Amino acid sequence: MALVGSIVCAFVLASGAAAGGANNPFVRSRPVALVETATVYTLSVALVGSGSGTVTSSPAGVDCGSTCSYDFPSGTEVILTATAAPGSSFAGWSGAGCSGIGSCEVTMSAAESVTATFDEACVVPEVTGEALKAAERAVEAGNCRVGKVTHVFSRKVKKGFVISQRPKPRRRLESGAEVALIVSEGTRKVLLGRSVDGRPIVAYEVGNPASSRRELVVGCIHGNETAGIAIARRLERMSLTTVALWVVPVLNPDGVAAGTRGNAHGVDLNRNFPHRWQMQSGVYYSGPRPLSEPESRTAYRLIRRFRPQVSIWFHQHLDVVDESGGQIAVERRFAALVGLPLRRLTRESGSVVGWTNHILPRSTSFVVELPARALSEPAVARFARATTAVGTG
Ligand SMILES: [Zn+2]
Repeated sequence: MALVGSIVCAFVLASGAAAGGANNPFVRSRPVALVETATVYTLSVALVGSGSGTVTSSPAGVDCGSTCSYDFPSGTEVILTATAAPGSSFAGWSGAGCSGIGSCEVTMSAAESVTATFDEACVVPEVTGEALKAAERAVEAGNCRVGKVTHVFSRKVKKGFVISQRPKPRRRLESGAEVALIVSEGTRKVLLGRSVDGRPIVAYEVGNPASSRRELVVGCIHGNETAGIAIARRLERMSLTTVALWVVPVLNPDGVAAGTRGNAHGVDLNRNFPHRWQMQSGVYYSGPRPLSEPESRTAYRLIRRFRPQVSIWFHQHLDVVDESGGQIAVERRFAALVGLPLRRLTRESGSVVGWTNHILPRSTSFVVELPARALSEPAVARFARATTAVGTG
């Protein structure tokens, strides 16, 4: 029996060395010891992949890079641990029933071969300003993966080019880490309609058209109250990811051209909407009937189609946010952000905010009365920020 045992032992050692040793540079061949009596099996470790690292064993024996195979007595439970070198990450085990990136446990009942894969770490490339295709290639080349790609309108960045990225460039992450990209959809300028005198009424689509948050901003409805136009112009230039924003700088271009409150028919457009409409004359001339004016009909169509959850209408010059009948929390938040008081002004018949709050019951359409003077640059920025803050929810 002792002789048979020795023969078995020699056979196992020889096959173990052959299995690991023939193709594996890390396995050093061991002399076959015919005199050994305890059965041992060779555990071989191979390191592969673009990165680097080490594999050690418990009980001690394997210490790969340098010692990549070791003979363990039959029945030994060996735990292999992989440690990635700086700049690399451990991608996982294969062989001997091991997988995943945890430890690899092998009970030695035969010769075993285990492969440990180390990848180069993801080093986030600088892709802001690149075309999307080039950015995607750079991300892959950096051992990272392209994560969420969000398309937003932008007036600053050409369509198809990356506006921003996350994480920031040069960060070192695990191989395959995701890099999210925000990509420009370019500018979208929409001709909504024309005024009584044929002037174009335009809107700019800003932000993320796929967003479920929809906001409308109108810079000027009364032609002699023009301070809000600067806020609209600022908003046009923003790249927003979490809101779809329509900006109408001027709904009443004829009034702006003439410096009058009303349009070219002398109609106060903010008395011309079909909710609690009343015939009024003079400065607040309501028009002969609701929606008699092309400018009002233009806004009416846009609001019915776009269904904004938040609409902001800029006026002058009472220096107050009007509690206009929508969600008061939205109005209050806006007032706090811009530093104006929130007050309830008279709810006028035929006003656009009254009509909007009526037909879109869970929405908030409100009037912001700017101060009499033109806004300073910091004030414009503050109002634009507040506008996007309440629009994104
Ligand atoms: Zn006004």
